Amino acid sequence: MELRPHHGMCFQFYEGKGYSEDFTDHMGRVITQLRKDPSQKIRLIVATDVVCANCPNNEGGICNSLEKVKRYDEEVLKACDLVEGDEISFAKFTQLVRSEIIEKGLRSSICGDCSWDYICRPKEKEL
Ligand code: SF4
Repeated sequence: MELRPHHGMCFQFYEGKGYSEDFTDHMGRVITQLRKDPSQKIRLIVATDVVCANCPNNEGGICNSLEKVKRYDEEVLKACDLVEGDEISFAKFTQLVRSEIIEKGLRSSICGDCSWDYICRPKEKEL
């Protein structure tokens, strides 16, 4: 499965809200599938991924917030000492996002200008 690096952060705090019902249903299924088998490998890509597939902001394979989400992706890769194209287990990636970003208090410096920040902000303190 291919995944945008910043979606590793979205997954941490996902609570069923999103851009459309189709998008949230699909994202919920992706998360369930990954959590069922956390040892499965994901390939990190800075491009539209499995989550973007059902997003109304995905315009012909390109996110209409391209500059912003690309910046998020690149900052997540850098913080986790990973590069685009790396293949890593979902469990390891989730653990890196937690230890290298969330627990270090870096989340808001990476994606604090996201429209869903109000969901993640109160929850990051509970992890
Ligand atoms: S907003 Fe952009 S990066 Fe986020 S899921 Fe939609 S298409 Fe993908």
